[in-house]
Amino acid sequence: EQTKAAGTRRILLAGPRSFCAGVERAIEIVERALRSHPGPIYVRKQIVHNISVVEDFTRRGVIFVEELDEVPNGSTVVFSAHGVSPAVREDAARRQLDVIDGTCPLVTKVHAKARRFAARGDTVVLIGHGGHEEVEGTLGEAPESIVLVETLEDVQNLEIPDPERASYLTQTTLAVDDTAEFIGALRQRFPLLHEPSSEDICYATTNRQHALGAIVDESELVLVVGSTNSSNSVRLVELSRRQGTPAYLIDSSKDIQPEWLDGVTTIGLTAGASAPPALVDEVVGALRELGPVSVEEREISRETTHFELPAAVRDLPDRAQ
Ligand code: SF4
Repeated sequence: EQTKAAGTRRILLAGPRSFCAGVERAIEIVERALRSHPGPIYVRKQIVHNISVVEDFTRRGVIFVEELDEVPNGSTVVFSAHGVSPAVREDAARRQLDVIDGTCPLVTKVHAKARRFAARGDTVVLIGHGGHEEVEGTLGEAPESIVLVETLEDVQNLEIPDPERASYLTQTTLAVDDTAEFIGALRQRFPLLHEPSSEDICYATTNRQHALGAIVDESELVLVVGSTNSSNSVRLVELSRRQGTPAYLIDSSKDIQPEWLDGVTTIGLTAGASAPPALVDEVVGALRELGPVSVEEREISRETTHFELPAAVRDLPDRAQ
């Protein structure tokens, strides 16, 4: 009995993990557009930052483009979950594109705050990662009023013309702990900084970090299912490593290096908000093929958030019916 137990590897499944409501909604929008539109469906940028989701849609005829100039006039184009700047919306209108907006409502909320804060004359400090599509979109709401800070050094070097008129916003998928540090540093330099009425780091990002935090100490290895450009997934890998547990980001079980598992009896497994649940099952299956495993679900909270689909696809006729 004892030898058997010793040979069994434990998998601790962090919960919540995998798809969030914003990603489910964006994917459903493309599904519905595909089913109901006779012509090609274009998507600006990756609909969500996951390679398998994008490959699956590509196989089914969806055309992913980087910019709108690759979309023929009059075509249907879906905006990704990360949102777009007003300039992109204007361009689409000028080109008479049929736009279906997949922007997550929680990103839309950050855009609205950016506009509001800028309109009242604030310098808006955006804490985030430069180059990320969400950040590009938010910056575009008020380019002359928003400044991006990516590091604590940026905070130290920041100049605000009127410190009585300053507020901050954050990207939705940051590390909760890091961000608290940034806000603390900002407050120290600019004590009159206006607080936003609510956090911008979204519920899904926060929950996945807390869920991983609850199993990381027990795990000798953490596997995070997600793609390299998925911000919230990368944050999970960092969180684990910071706690002293080796962690790797994998797109599927094919990325698992056998040596990672040497001597490891307890594996923590989670997935970023853009990684499909089926990929987690696939990883569990692959680990099972390597020897006996026990799977323990460690769900610390249950998510009930759900976002309505935009009217543009809610009311579309379904060609399949
Ligand atoms: Fe929306 Fe958060 Fe999901 Fe991004 S991670 S799509 S902000 S719910």
